[in-house]
Amino acid sequence: MDTESESPVCCGSGCTNCILDQENRKRKIPSNFDGPNVLSTGHYHQFRCTHIEPVTNSTYLMRFQFVASEETTQEVKLLIPPGSHLMLRVERNWRNTPRPVNELFSKWCVETSRADAHQARVHRQVRPTIEKYDKTERDLYFSRPYTPIVVNQTERSFDVLIKFETGGEMSQYLLTSNVGDVQEWKGVYTGFCWTRNLFSHLIGFVQGVGLAPVYSIMKSILQDEEDYTRLCLCSCFSDISGIILRDDLYSMTKFWNFESKIYLSRESCTCDDESRRTCSCLSSRKKYNEQIFNHRLESIDVENLLQKFAPNSFQVLICGTEAFVAFIETCISKLNVSNWYKF
Ligand SMILES: Cc1cc2nc3c(=O)[nH]c(=O)nc-3n(C[C@H](O)[C@H](O)[C@H](O)COP(=O)(O)OP(=O)(O)OC[C@H]3O[C@@H](n4cnc5c(N)ncnc54)[C@H](O)[C@@H]3O)c2cc1C
Repeated sequence: MDTESESPVCCGSGCTNCILDQENRKRKIPSNFDGPNVLSTGHYHQFRCTHIEPVTNSTYLMRFQFVASEETTQEVKLLIPPGSHLMLRVERNWRNTPRPVNELFSKWCVETSRADAHQARVHRQVRPTIEKYDKTERDLYFSRPYTPIVVNQTERSFDVLIKFETGGEMSQYLLTSNVGDVQEWKGVYTGFCWTRNLFSHLIGFVQGVGLAPVYSIMKSILQDEEDYTRLCLCSCFSDISGIILRDDLYSMTKFWNFESKIYLSRESCTCDDESRRTCSCLSSRKKYNEQIFNHRLESIDVENLLQKFAPNSFQVLICGTEAFVAFIETCISKLNVSNWYKF
């Protein structure tokens, strides 16, 4: 992929970069995000990391601000439609320069190396290297997509939630990143575009960091005073400490049209009886009216929720691992739901 040319050319090897670029060119940016945009040229642009904050043990919020050149006027904004993503690229040879792990992430590193050592003992084998990307001579970079959850158009900054993956190449690189570092981002890659009041209900089923696109879409609907869509976000995490944006989700429930349901697959329960799905183990750890369940989201939960709505009055958004998406797809196909979108 020639990333510096005016119009990106496909390298023909089917790498992630090229496929996303081609798909992106077929899609339209919603009209309210049409305008002078720092990201509109199809090039990579420099953004400085201005903030890093832990969200859970493995997920961090990182803020990036556009590095303006002398020619960039104030009218040029950062326009990223909710639910769309950007591409972060890093030089393949980044390890050639010494980059110590940022202290902020050292807790994650210690915990993961313990888990890795345990895995190695269990499997007694070295993990194979994943060779996923184009390796032509010109491909000096590797890249990964990330989904902004908050965009400040005038400050020209965006926030992303980054979940570190053990052994992941970008994760390894980002563990060495600091506030002040400059990274290269490209976009905007749009997929789902919401139309105001298109359905009376919008239901999200998300897992882990898959919360990002659906959260930003729902947040933008809540900020639109003329959008009366009722929103329900069902989020799945492993345990209470792994809930992403818990305070944010709770404060969104103050809106008349937003409901949050959180399902925890591995939160311990001391009741140890048949009625576990309705036990009160979590009561003391929940906020007033906070809907958190210490059981995984099951098909009965999906059915009970969706059967409340009239057919074709709602749309479903899904984002998570392949297994999670497949599970939700199975549930909704049994209910003959036709209006749905997976990220
Ligand atoms: C449209 C889109 C939007 C996304 N948005 C976000 C977002 O907002 N936030 C976010 O955190 N992520 C997001 N992702 C995922 C993100 O792009 C990366 O895939 C993720 O950060 C992992 O990248 P990595 O380079 O660290 O891992 P990779 O190197 O790509 O590895 C992927 C997986 O393989 C495993 N692995 C790596 N090496 C080995 C090995 N040798 N043996 C066995 N297993 C191995 C890793 O543990 C990891 O689980 C998005 C993905 C898509 C497609």
